[in-house]
Amino acid sequence: MPLSPAIGLFGGTFDPIHNGHIYPVIAAAKLANIDSVALMPNYIPAHKNAAQSTSQQRLAMIKLVCDEYPLFYPEPWEIEQSKVSYSVETLLAFRQRHPHSPICFFIGSDSLYSLPKWHRWQELLGLCHFIVCQREHQTPPKAEENNQIIMQRILAKHQITQVALLQQKLAGYIYLAKTPEINVSSSQIRALLVKGQNPQGLLPSAIYRYIEQFKLYQQSTNI
Ligand code: ATP
Repeated sequence: MPLSPAIGLFGGTFDPIHNGHIYPVIAAAKLANIDSVALMPNYIPAHKNAAQSTSQQRLAMIKLVCDEYPLFYPEPWEIEQSKVSYSVETLLAFRQRHPHSPICFFIGSDSLYSLPKWHRWQELLGLCHFIVCQREHQTPPKAEENNQIIMQRILAKHQITQVALLQQKLAGYIYLAKTPEINVSSSQIRALLVKGQNPQGLLPSAIYRYIEQFKLYQQSTNI
């Protein structure tokens, strides 16, 4: 039976969502011929400190991005679970929901090299493909040496260069997309806001207005 079109999934803490999330994924989705990507904020992140803004605020900011960029739609699934968000559990649920669609999970290159630390990470490539967006200065320095060795082995087995293959199998490939490097992080934006500095240019203006309206990220906790 022919497969259904691939679905795109982009998860993160998005505290707040910024241009480094948006533009690389738009570029990568275009390369991979994916016309719809779910933006999915986690409830409690599995691999980092809890978010400073509430899950509803992060979801509201994501909805503003979806209003502006038709590629994206908001996916509240992890928030609705109200527990620590493990990608493997999310992907199992999405696989049930979409049994005939390849699932393409978008991540930044820093996340690729931390993959061996993810919960039940060996199961992930049985559930989805990874489309990896480039993230400036992140891959080699941030990655732990051991994880790099493991990931080089995984890449040797799973990396593809022909992007069309993503549509021909349900899961199991890693595609390193040549995407624009946008050097910004949520923590950098939070740090600017705490110092009273303006992060405009690093995130959509609608998100900046939302942050201003609800006075988010004014405390220095957990940057
Ligand atoms: P923080 O600074 O709080 O750690 P972050 O900016 O890394 O946050 P996350 O929400 O944790 O943002 O990231 C979600 C996903 O987006 C991850 O896969 C991450 O690698 C990717 N990502 C984040 N920023 C960028 C960027 N500038 N370029 C490419 N990918 C990015």
